[in-house]
Amino acid sequence: MKRFQEAILADAGSEEIASIPMPDTYRGAYVRRDEVDMFEGLDSADKDPRKSLHVSEVPVPELAPDEAYVAVMASAINFNTVWTSIFEPLPTFGFLDRLGREGIWGARHVRDEHVVGSDASGVVVRVGSAVRNWRPGDRVVIHCNYVDDQDPSAHDDSMLAANQRIWGFETNFGGLADLTVVKANQLMPKAAHLTWEEAAINALCNSTAYRMLVSRNGAPITQGDRVLIWGATGGLGSYAVQHVLNGGGVPVGVVSSAEKVDLLHDLGVDAVIDRKAAGYKFWSDEFTQDESEWRRLGKDIRALVGEDPDIVFEHPGRQTMGASVFVCKRAGTIVTCAATSGYMIEYDNRHLWMKLKTIKGSHFANYREAWDANRLICEGKVLPPLSAVYSLDEVGEAALQVHRNLHEGKIGVLCLAPTEGLGVEDPELRERVGEDRITLFRRHGA
Ligand code: NAP
Repeated sequence: MKRFQEAILADAGSEEIASIPMPDTYRGAYVRRDEVDMFEGLDSADKDPRKSLHVSEVPVPELAPDEAYVAVMASAINFNTVWTSIFEPLPTFGFLDRLGREGIWGARHVRDEHVVGSDASGVVVRVGSAVRNWRPGDRVVIHCNYVDDQDPSAHDDSMLAANQRIWGFETNFGGLADLTVVKANQLMPKAAHLTWEEAAINALCNSTAYRMLVSRNGAPITQGDRVLIWGATGGLGSYAVQHVLNGGGVPVGVVSSAEKVDLLHDLGVDAVIDRKAAGYKFWSDEFTQDESEWRRLGKDIRALVGEDPDIVFEHPGRQTMGASVFVCKRAGTIVTCAATSGYMIEYDNRHLWMKLKTIKGSHFANYREAWDANRLICEGKVLPPLSAVYSLDEVGEAALQVHRNLHEGKIGVLCLAPTEGLGVEDPELRERVGEDRITLFRRHGA
């Protein structure tokens, strides 16, 4: 991969990149099939991704006609890499085996190593014979919706496809590597004003938040809407607050430290709740929730923005869902895409039906939504919340930071990019958007 790296850093053209021979192996970060039981008996919090994530050479798979090889300059840690690396809620090798039963191209994914990672920026180095819109040398970012477009169920909204998968989580050959193999319909243009690592972090969380709050497939905001956002400086939340601000809504961000409160204020969010300082105890014990604590949160929200939230942006799950359903406005929507703290959810259904509320499930984004969310990144209308950067060799440590909730925004990972700060092609746009705004999370995280 060194020759690709040198060519990309020297700004080589399409023909030169296409003429570089493909290597037999590449460096990737992976978990191993023979280690899926390594954390048995431990609490989730004690399962350490540094032990389960390995970085070394793995074989380059063959390219299918509708795919591209991308030399990865940078990638990012997503929570799904944490799940894969602690083998929860289940080992991801089952996903690969199921994909393997779909045909010869699917069978390539069945290996004893699962190369993980669901975000990347980089350069296309080869395309399959059926690829029309991309060619070697294109600078791209990759979204993680992996869809079989021969399935009729994929042709209304591809997130409804019966065999929809998340690349690098439910497929092999993910983005935490020097090379990745993706379907051509996962490619999107890289934002020209961003560095490789700033561009790499956005597609997964930005597109997910976009579908939840902007697309008609989620709970689209209207001007003036109050939107309660849990984890408002986290991966999803840091995009969610920007979409609400851009759409003329009023975000109410919930975070867990004074530093995060400051960060949100700097991002333009006035209404912020520090859940740690407030000391909410929604669960009085493992089985019992305390309605008076839900009420206290509701009062705090009203004190800040005058009304109950029209929309609640949910993802912590078991710990917060009861409170989310309670505080949501009459006829409002709780839109949820995850359950970090537990997926067996309990809420008081009387508050849902008597006040005509809706719980709306959402999952990643279709290509159109990911493309439109990426356009906002490319135009500088959504900022990349990059707070820290690790090398690929330190991927376990980077995943541990997210697992332990020690990070803000997103953590970038350098793959073929030798240092931070490379890859900006449009310095004028960067200047117009503002260096200070683009690096806001990085300066807070430093
Ligand atoms: P993240 O970067 O770790 O951010 C999550 C934030 O949630 C944290 O910063 C934390 O903020 C808050 N939080 C964590 N536990 C909480 C609790 N018990 N109560 C209240 N707040 C809590 O993760 P992320 O990237 O935003 O992802 C969040 C979840 O969504 C993960 O489970 C991930 O797998 C899932 N996800 C799903 C999709 C999808 O397409 N379905 C896409 C992306 C992510 P504070 O401590 O500051 O409050």
